[in-house]
Amino acid sequence: MTEHIKCLIIGSGPAGYTAAIYAGRANLSPVLYQGIQAGGQLTQTTEIENFPGFPQGIDANQLMSDMQEQAARFGADIRDGEVTKISLGSKPYKVTIDDEKDVTADSIIIATGAKAKYLGLPDEEKYKGMGVSGCATCDGFFYRKKTVAVVGGGDTACEDALYLSKICKKVYLLVRKNYLRASEIMQKRVKEDENIEILFEHNVSGIFGNGAVEGINVVKRKGESNESNYQIAVDGLFLAIGHKPATDIFDGQLVLDNNGFIVTAANSQSVVSSSTKQAIDGVFAAGDVCDPVYRQAIVAAGSGCKAALEAEKYLLMQAK
Ligand code: NDP
Repeated sequence: MTEHIKCLIIGSGPAGYTAAIYAGRANLSPVLYQGIQAGGQLTQTTEIENFPGFPQGIDANQLMSDMQEQAARFGADIRDGEVTKISLGSKPYKVTIDDEKDVTADSIIIATGAKAKYLGLPDEEKYKGMGVSGCATCDGFFYRKKTVAVVGGGDTACEDALYLSKICKKVYLLVRKNYLRASEIMQKRVKEDENIEILFEHNVSGIFGNGAVEGINVVKRKGESNESNYQIAVDGLFLAIGHKPATDIFDGQLVLDNNGFIVTAANSQSVVSSSTKQAIDGVFAAGDVCDPVYRQAIVAAGSGCKAALEAEKYLLMQAK
């Protein structure tokens, strides 16, 4: 018989676990599927210094396992498994786990997160956490008084460069085109910052270093007759070339923005709408999957709380 779940939570970052803590305490018997990477994006980083409540910082993996334990303490059923298919066309909603197990759900909290995009260089994986990062606000502090490079020409890259400029000795901003795509105000700030050197028409072609990043190979005017190759010594390489939200399974069912992030209703920030713009009863989104702007663990945790409160309200109304 198909298992029926009252409150299904998809994803195991700060949003998913916080939703599970609240849903557990509200006796919603939440079931949480952790996805491929239990603990989400934060498990890719080392220490978290900006999560309130930890004056000395906390190991990111520790924080996530503490959140998981806290959710389990209130009765959340936390399971391995990835949601591979979902049908939000009629109630109860139908969900397939790992292409083999089907469940139905009365309410669903989508907290599948987003991932920083990487360039796809062979050495990126090798140096992840050893000089290569997709999150300046998470890892920037470790590059205090050092030289770093940021790749990208959008608002995130400019924000990251400005953030790092306050901490680091020098910041190179590598932009593949001959202009920045960021908003005017961000462009102005970056251009006026003496600590930031913008290198237009530059691409990173490789990373080198003995164990940790010591520098990057760059190509100036890639593909053109006056193309040139050289090396820049840097201690850190920050990628700010966009984020990819994990929303492939919702495509065509939910309203997504141009970058694939779930669009939530302005008045609730967790209610999601179908592609016909009708709110979908009992389906909510939380965390980075619906946040193209802030992408912080604390914000994700807060939105997980909101989504669980919305789910509780919804389930209460259904029971009446
Ligand atoms: P964007 O998609 O706006 O910019 C990505 C940048 O990365 C572009 O300059 C792009 O170059 C470059 N890029 C992409 N792929 C590569 C690659 N393989 N090699 C080199 N460069 C590459 O992403 P953002 O994350 O900056 O912004 C996403 C959205 O979030 C935007 O709408 C932005 O305005 C918004 N945002 C808002 C903020 C705020 O309001 N405070 C803060 C941060 C983001 P190219 O231009 O050549 O395509």
